[in-house]
Amino acid sequence: MTSAISSSLDSVRQRLAAAEAAAGRASGSVCLLAVSKTFPADAIQEAYAAGQRAFGENYVQELQAKGAVLGGLDIEWHFIGPLQSNKTRPVAELAHWVHSVERLKIAERLSSQRPASLPPLNVCLQVNVSGEESKSGCEPHEVLALARAVAALPRLTLRGLMCIPEPTADQARLAGQFALLRRLRDEMAAQGLALDTLSMGMSADLELAVREGSTLVRVGTAIFGSRTYPA
Ligand SMILES: *Cc1c(COP(=O)(O)O)cnc(C)c1O
Repeated sequence: MTSAISSSLDSVRQRLAAAEAAAGRASGSVCLLAVSKTFPADAIQEAYAAGQRAFGENYVQELQAKGAVLGGLDIEWHFIGPLQSNKTRPVAELAHWVHSVERLKIAERLSSQRPASLPPLNVCLQVNVSGEESKSGCEPHEVLALARAVAALPRLTLRGLMCIPEPTADQARLAGQFALLRRLRDEMAAQGLALDTLSMGMSADLELAVREGSTLVRVGTAIFGSRTYPA
């Protein structure tokens, strides 16, 4: 019997393949990160059985709990949520990637807390591409300086940029915000800082993000269903 999760995963893979083809991008050039926040370890196991290996978590406690239960599987854990400085240690110890670095202090802690027995931690810098005041992420004009400082930290590998655009159905606005992230990446490459990852696109807008150059989409709802948050 195929599970609901494995068939949703199939549909997302088909959407991603169609988006790559429509954008003239090579097949398989965009990674799929399955965002499992709020879902139990069982759900991750179902997706794993269907071949998924990269999973994204937003909350440190959930990452710890699921990491402990699923420790025997070769899962690649991506931390994608807001990260406070007093919570960096478990992330430095458990994650393979952190997408949500937005200030140097957090990066320095992650670097110094990364165990010597593990390879360097892959990081992306989160950029506030929408200009919303409440939004996480460094400002676009700060990203180059932050990137230079992060790239110099010994136990991190700076891989790219991440964004969460403004919640809007306006496709042109969304495209503009994704394009801003791509442009920042290109400007950094011109300054000698070549990055291979653009982490952008979620369940509702992955096609648009792939058209604008995404190399990694973070998909939760379309794989696991809608989330209910504890009160
Ligand atoms: C929850 C979350 C996602 C997944 O969003 P969906 O709309 O459920 O696909 C992606 N990125 C981040 C940073 C998230 O917090």
